Amino acid sequence: MKCPRDQTELKIEHHMGIEVDHCPDCNGRWLDHHQLDHLEATVPSTEEERRATIMYGERTGDLKCPTCDRKMTVFQYRAYHLELDTCPDEHGYWLDAGEDGHVRDIIEERVKGLARAADAEAGWGRFLGGLRGKKKR
Ligand SMILES: [Zn+2]
Ligand SMILES: [Zn+2]
Repeated sequence: MKCPRDQTELKIEHHMGIEVDHCPDCNGRWLDHHQLDHLEATVPSTEEERRATIMYGERTGDLKCPTCDRKMTVFQYRAYHLELDTCPDEHGYWLDAGEDGHVRDIIEERVKGLARAADAEAGWGRFLGGLRGKKKR
């Protein structure tokens, strides 16, 4: 398989417990369609937290799928400012150098955001409980 950016032969690499095709030239990585889920799962989070739609603002990009040579779709990953390329036939995702780290950061941020929301809800519950407590007296 060849790098969609510079046509360098991709090398199989074990990255955070998953097998990815890595370009030694530009440091990009090719992930099979299901491997993005695996990468996301390397961050402690529940399936529910990760289930939200991940593709926004789709458009046809310039890179070609290393598996089938079709032009890939560029999309905003989970509406964050991170653009990934994916094959329209679901062969996989192309992550430029460092983008896999961004994916993990985004998931971590999401999990923290949800934890904060849960905290706020619990705090609000205590507040309401306090009000009810006062009413009884
Ligand atoms: Zn490359
Ligand atoms: Zn493809």
